[in-house]
Amino acid sequence: MTEPIPVFDERPDRYKGYRGAARALLERERVGVWSDVLARTSRGDFAGIILPRSETADDRHIVIKMVSGYNVGLAVANVISMVERGYTEAHYKVPEKEFPVDGGKPNVVLFGTGGTIASRLDYRTGAVIPAFSPGELYGSVPELADVCNLRTEKLYGVFSENMAREQYIGLAEAIGRAIREEGIDGIVVGHGTDTMHHTAAVLTFMVQNPPIPIVMVGSQRSSDRPSSDAALNLIHAAKTAGTSDIAEVLVCMFGPTSDEYGLLHRGTRVRKMHSSYRSTFRTIGDIPMATVDRDEIVPLRSDYNRRREDREVTIDAVFDDRVSIIYYYPGMKADVIDSLIDCGYKGIVIAGTGLGHVNKPLYPALKRAHDAGVHVYMTVQTLWGYVQMYVYDTGRDMMELGVVPAANMLPEVAYMKLCWALGHSHERDEVKRLMLTPISSEITRREPHDGYLIYQGGLPEVAEFVAGNLK
Ligand code: ASP
Repeated sequence: MTEPIPVFDERPDRYKGYRGAARALLERERVGVWSDVLARTSRGDFAGIILPRSETADDRHIVIKMVSGYNVGLAVANVISMVERGYTEAHYKVPEKEFPVDGGKPNVVLFGTGGTIASRLDYRTGAVIPAFSPGELYGSVPELADVCNLRTEKLYGVFSENMAREQYIGLAEAIGRAIREEGIDGIVVGHGTDTMHHTAAVLTFMVQNPPIPIVMVGSQRSSDRPSSDAALNLIHAAKTAGTSDIAEVLVCMFGPTSDEYGLLHRGTRVRKMHSSYRSTFRTIGDIPMATVDRDEIVPLRSDYNRRREDREVTIDAVFDDRVSIIYYYPGMKADVIDSLIDCGYKGIVIAGTGLGHVNKPLYPALKRAHDAGVHVYMTVQTLWGYVQMYVYDTGRDMMELGVVPAANMLPEVAYMKLCWALGHSHERDEVKRLMLTPISSEITRREPHDGYLIYQGGLPEVAEFVAGNLK
């Protein structure tokens, strides 16, 4: 049964946040906040729900939420007419529910750090804000109770670009405590997707030899959107944490673009590869660890650390963030490197072109960096493949200047590892030993040629695409 549309003049806060020209337009058209409108504008027609506006926002736009889930701002000057077709007042507060405890189910701890997965829309500003409450999570994804007993703890509430040294150390220590002090079967870390692969890498170095899975999860679309991946990713992650045999730091996100299955990626070989697809995470230079759906986890490989009964884990939470990453571009000037040296940076990871190149004018600066005790490591922008500094004499020259090739370590992973290594030592050989001794596949002996397509939602999707297009 649809709710009757409340009488316009009796609606409280019907112009919430709108003032000046924007409010005058709403008054003229007799529409307001939560009106589901069809707006005719000089730029075309737009349909959606008028959202409350921030008091501090300008008075020249009306913000509507379209069916696609996106918010658009309609310029008042372009609006010809607005007609109310319905009224949909949103209730954002998900009812908090006590998570049921079932002795037969695995015990999982979920640490929240923020990101879209822990967000709901702030209708005052129209922006997605971090908000995390344990009861809300169960209230919005009740299926979690079919999978595990869940304890949740909000460690941070930030978008992931704000994760850094302090949060990495805090998170690693919280994981260590949960493993040693609680009889848990697995850990889920809710995290923004943008830098999830950075955190997955650093956790792999800071939390070594865990006896249980540590599963990072996020969502590309917030849970107020129909196409949200939040619920399914959470269910997959909780299932993995509670029942999987893979005791490693993993990332659990959509596999194919559809919701057929999730993929589990090793923390050091994973990368966000698309700014908006839900299937954004890909294992680079290798194949993923496993697929996961509501019913089962299917390993795609057997070379992983198995779950153990003991509660032993090495927490090695050190991080020296005086490290920078340089994405080389043609024409780069030496002053880029000089300024890092002058500012006291202790490590530089270069993402070089091709097999690991930068131009000749940088060579003297690289030597200055080396002489100043700065540790310089080379990775490749191509992401797939190895740094090869023996192929061209330029590579050999650079090695003589002290640049160390980092094999097939992904640039962000090399960055995280150098921060971690410099937290231990600044002695050149020791840093090199730490950097080049793999802890968990950050360097591998070879890369399978079929990694990207076959195991990552590739072939079924290609087959579907081809079939669809040949009809
Ligand atoms: N900007 C968000 C973040 O990384 C995006 C997300 O959560 O997917 O925190």
